[in-house]
Parts: sequence; C-alpha cells; structure tokens
Amino acid sequence: MRVIVIGAGVAGLALARGLLQEGHEVEVYEEAPDLRTAGGSVTLWPGSTAILRELKADYAGVGRRLETLESWAPGGRRLLTLDLTVPERRYGHPVVHVARRELVELLSDGVPVTYGARAEHVVPERAEARLADGRTVRGDVLVGADGRRSVVRAALHGDDRAKLSGWVTWQGFTTMPTALTEDHRAVMVAGGQGLCGLIPAGRGRLLWWFDVRAAPGGPFWADDPKVVDRLRERFGGWADPVPGVLESVGDVDFFPHHKQPIPDRWGRGPTTLAGDSAHTMPPTMAQGANQALEDAWLLSRSLADLRAYERARAKVARRPARLAGTELTDRQGPIVRLLSDRFATWVYTAQLRRYSTYLLTAP
Ligand SMILES: Cc1cc2nc3c(=O)[nH]c(=O)nc-3n(C[C@H](O)[C@H](O)[C@H](O)COP(=O)(O)OP(=O)(O)OC[C@H]3O[C@@H](n4cnc5c(N)ncnc54)[C@H](O)[C@@H]3O)c2cc1C
Repeated sequence: MRVIVIGAGVAGLALARGLLQEGHEVEVYEEAPDLRTAGGSVTLWPGSTAILRELKADYAGVGRRLETLESWAPGGRRLLTLDLTVPERRYGHPVVHVARRELVELLSDGVPVTYGARAEHVVPERAEARLADGRTVRGDVLVGADGRRSVVRAALHGDDRAKLSGWVTWQGFTTMPTALTEDHRAVMVAGGQGLCGLIPAGRGRLLWWFDVRAAPGGPFWADDPKVVDRLRERFGGWADPVPGVLESVGDVDFFPHHKQPIPDRWGRGPTTLAGDSAHTMPPTMAQGANQALEDAWLLSRSLADLRAYERARAKVARRPARLAGTELTDRQGPIVRLLSDRFATWVYTAQLRRYSTYLLTAP
C-alpha cells in the first residue's frame, strides 16, 4: 500500500521504518526544515528496545542502559530502589535512556522524509493532505503522526482535547561530572516543592529536570526570565548533586504537561493517528515516546484494519496515560515510603508489560 505519514517525530519515523520493512510505499511529510532534534532524553522500556531491535534501529552505541530507578527524599535518604535488571531479564530487553536527538537520528536513517512540508488541510475520507506549498498528496492510508497540535486530528475530530495538567518541566543536560553521570542509576527526588529527576544519557551527559506546578503567565511558566534563580532558590538546599547541577545550568527547556482522554476510535475511513496526536500525556511515567513506538510497531502490521489497531492501542495507552495524568510521581514521597524494593520492582515489572502491546502480544 501507499502510506502518507504526516510528521517526522518518533511516531512518524518509527512507523515509516516499520512500513518499509513490511514492503509498503511510504512518504513522510515534516513541517520543520530539518529533523527536529531538540528536547531532553527519553527512557525506553523493554517493549520499546525490543521494537527498536525489530525496526533494525541499532541503539547499542547510544544512550545509557539503566539498572536501577531510585526515589530519594529531598535530604538524600533513599526511599525505594526499583531493580530494572528484573524486567530486563524477564522480557529479554534492557531499559535504556537516550537523548531524543539520538533516537530520532537513529530512526530517520534510510527513511524518505520531505522536510519543509507542512500539512495544512486534510480530507480523512480520501487519505489526502494539502501541503503549505499547494501540493496535494494522497495515499491508500494517511497517518497523522503530527504531535500534540495535530492538524490531522483536528480534521478528524475538530478540536484539541488536550488540557494542561497544572505541572511543567524545566530541563536540560549537564556535562558537569557527578556520581551519577557514568553510572546506570536514575534518581528521582520528590518533596513538597516539586520533583527533581537525574538520569545519565550517555556521552558524559546527565539529564536533569524539575517538575513544578505552574500556570500560564505565572512564575515558572514559559517566558519566566527568572526561572533559573527560582529553581536555585527552591531546590538549592536539596541533597547532592542537586545544588551542583543547579549551579551548572546553562540552557533550559520548558515542557508543559498536557493530558487528554483517549477514545477507542482515533480515525475515519483510511485515516488514523499515531503518537501524541492520539494520546498526549504528561512525561511523568516516561511513556510518551514508548507509546509512540508501540503505535508504530502495531500499525505497520495492521493497515488492513485501522479501527482494530486503534482499539488495541487505545486500551493499552490509556493505562500509563491515566496514571501520568494524576501527576502522582511528582508527589511520590508519601507513597513510595510504604513499599519494599522487592514488591515495588515486581509490580513495576508487571506494569511495564501492561503498558506494552508488543510485550502483551509478542511470543
Ligand atoms: C522538538 C521536540 C522536543 C521534544 N522534547 C521532549 C522532551 O524533552 N521530553 C519529552 O518527554 N518529550 C519531548 N517531546 C515529545 C516527545 O518526543 C513525544 O511525546 C513522543 O516522542 C511522541 O512523539 P510523536 O512523534 O507522536 O510527536 P512529536 O515528537 O511531537 O512529533 C511530531 C512531528 O510532527 C511535525 N508536525 C507537526 N505538525 C505538522 C504538520 N501540520 N505538517 C507536517 N509536520 C508536522 C512536528 O514538527 C514533529 O516533528 C518533544 C517533541 C518535539 C517535537
């Protein structure tokens, strides 16, 4: 079949790879002039590293394999440690943390993308899109992999159902050496003031992020000129290496959290959605890129029944999306204290399977 994919993010690129492997003809249209490599880094759970392997996207040289996920109190006391080697052994694939830049570069290799090609108007019933340069492109199937502000979803449903969750992320990388940078541990420190996350991303980088409550126009919102000072003031007294990381802060990225209900039906006729266009969720469960890869994997082998693909994926994607929407991980202190490491690792390992269509269905 001939498939038109709108958007060259994680969902669109992975989908195109999968479709090419299945022998389909693919055209990807991306509005940006080049591959969009901005952003922080993402954690890929075993379902996703399995999918990357199937897509022949060799992630061995990028990112950092994670062995533990630790929760700390602001003073540095370790409250809980999830052993990530347990899901690795159980599912046969590792947990890897990788810069978004390296993930999209890996996925884009060999994929035909037309850049500077914004889809402006979509006719779902004809799998047709009109591009900003006036061209009209048409396929047997059209997929909107065009992210949270999807024009394909707008053509299908006429609205943007995503709402702000009330939390935002400020993030960046530091190359300042810390005890975590060359380690295989991810750390989350949570307190009443918000959450700080620290994860090694490979190549001497440590991703840091702070989740805080914020509203448009207020402190900590997008164009707050004092945001670095505010972060230092709020989190500067937390345990090492948080103060040092805050001192090293250079460029900061703003990422507001959105959530949306995920219906059973995403598309109409020969048109469907994949990735954030179908299920934007806050990054607190580290599942946005993973759910995009899961969509791509299933859709690349389900072109004959798009509604079945949507139902199957909606059922699974809703699970992490609902939990992420509560922003519970940003307030994890009181909860994690009640759990033992072993029990929490067991629950988390089981959850990872429930969040992955690949792990639920692959032999
Ligand atoms: C630049 C960038 C930085 C990000 N940084 C982070 C981060 O730090 N942390 C995090 O958790 N998540 C981040 N994300 C989101 C994360 O990548 C997604 O949640 C997840 O990977 C799902 O990806 P997606 O492909 O569905 O959507 P996206 O990654 O948003 O990709 C959608 C693509 O579609 C393109 N597009 C949009 N509209 C049109 C149109 N009309 N015509 C043609 N192309 C169009 C966009 O330019 C984009 O390349 C970022 C996304 C982007 C685009």
